[in-house]
Amino acid sequence: MQLEIQDIHKFYGEGENRIEVLKGITANVEEGRICVLLGPSGSGKSTLLNIIGGIETAEQGYIAINGEKIEDMKEKQLSLYRRNHLGYVFQFYNLIPNLTVKENIEVGAYLSKKALDVDELLHTLGLWEHRNKVPNQLSGGQQQRTAIGRAIVKNPDVLLCDEPTGALDYHTSKEILQLIEDVNKKYGNTILIVTHNDAIKYMADQVITLRDGQIRKNYLTENKISAK
Ligand code: ADP
Ligand code: ADP
Repeated sequence: MQLEIQDIHKFYGEGENRIEVLKGITANVEEGRICVLLGPSGSGKSTLLNIIGGIETAEQGYIAINGEKIEDMKEKQLSLYRRNHLGYVFQFYNLIPNLTVKENIEVGAYLSKKALDVDELLHTLGLWEHRNKVPNQLSGGQQQRTAIGRAIVKNPDVLLCDEPTGALDYHTSKEILQLIEDVNKKYGNTILIVTHNDAIKYMADQVITLRDGQIRKNYLTENKISAK
């Protein structure tokens, strides 16, 4: 699914406190790519991700998915869009504490018409032996694997990840990024990763850097150009 970001402007605050946090963002992300959105804290990454996710709206510009603008969608269409086309992974996992690993993933499959097989996914994620544990019996990395499972089980066209390794140590971060790459290869989802961790760009097909609400760079990585 192709993602088009067209001249997005976003403001926060009122009167003299009004600030423009996104100052005309335009970019395209082709289907099946891993795109990393880099930039220092406060540069507007999360805001842009939330606009793409239909959680926040922009004052100007639009997001289009396969040519369909999301702000033209009615409430019901928008919730279908989120349900059928988007998966979310957050920095702090947001798992349901009294459900097991398997049940947390099943929540993601609920109401999806094209859900993946949960048992197979548990194996892919390296969670099979942990499937009956609840989140507080898991390490941070295992919790993030579960959160990725919950997001990916409905086989979304676009997986949106906001600082997915922000709460993890170096070694576990590498494991989680490898897992995201494996998921991308296996299921072909377009993946957007927001981070201020520069090292993540080594797994990307496309890198977009933001600075102060504007795009500084937008390029395809060389290894991926030759590999694809
Ligand atoms: P990060 O830099 O990791 O994205 P932040 O702490 O900057 O995290 O922001 C996290 C979230 O908190 C933002 O996505 C936004 O919704 C909210 N937020 C950030 N700054 C403000 C602010 N000045 N006023 C209100 N909410 C804010
Ligand atoms: P990043 O994800 O790159 O850290 P954010 O998108 O969270 O950046 O924030 C961009 C700017 O917008 C920051 O200056 C932040 O303080 C501000 N901001 C974010 N959310 C809000 C909000 N809900 N209300 C007011 N200001 C906000």
